[in-house]
Amino acid sequence: MNTTKIGENKNKAILVDRDGVLVEDVGYHHKLEDFKLIPNAVEGLKLLSKDFKLIIITNQSGIGRGYYTLEDFNKFNNHLIKELKKQNIKIQKTYYCPHKPEDNCECRKPKTKFLQEAAEEFGIDLKKSFVIGDRKSDFEMGKNVGCKTIHVLTGYGINAKNEVSPDYFAKNLLDAAKWILKKDSKYQK
Ligand SMILES: [Mg+2]
Ligand SMILES: [Zn+2]
Repeated sequence: MNTTKIGENKNKAILVDRDGVLVEDVGYHHKLEDFKLIPNAVEGLKLLSKDFKLIIITNQSGIGRGYYTLEDFNKFNNHLIKELKKQNIKIQKTYYCPHKPEDNCECRKPKTKFLQEAAEEFGIDLKKSFVIGDRKSDFEMGKNVGCKTIHVLTGYGINAKNEVSPDYFAKNLLDAAKWILKKDSKYQK
């Protein structure tokens, strides 16, 4: 089945934020004792994993700020990947930005560098893909490349100054998954 040629972007992906979407966001968390999956996140990913490649894109300025190390981040993130694998959920890759906002790097969301990279690396058609997140920077990034965007309310909540509106507000990842599958089935026709 995996015969996609490079440049022939046929795959669909879910580009998902990590903190506040998959794991509870307690603020610059990096210790395993703070690891807690958000209710329904696993169910949501399971539904989506049949038709979509699953990719995490996360801003981790805590590394650049010196709150935790890259090693801490890797330990925490590998734990997440392992827990999901136990549930038969495959995450293709985690793209993370370790920079502080003031570094003005090329990869921090809402910049689209990681989306472009993922598209190339996994042969993804971004126009048929979805970005799920809990902050404005997530939707901004997705909108900029033509992805559909979903705001899950399990994390940061609704920012009053949210000028960028997502295509859908979801209670949680399972709710988001159901909406995506409905939307996606319309594209097929
Ligand atoms: Mg988040
Ligand atoms: Zn960066």
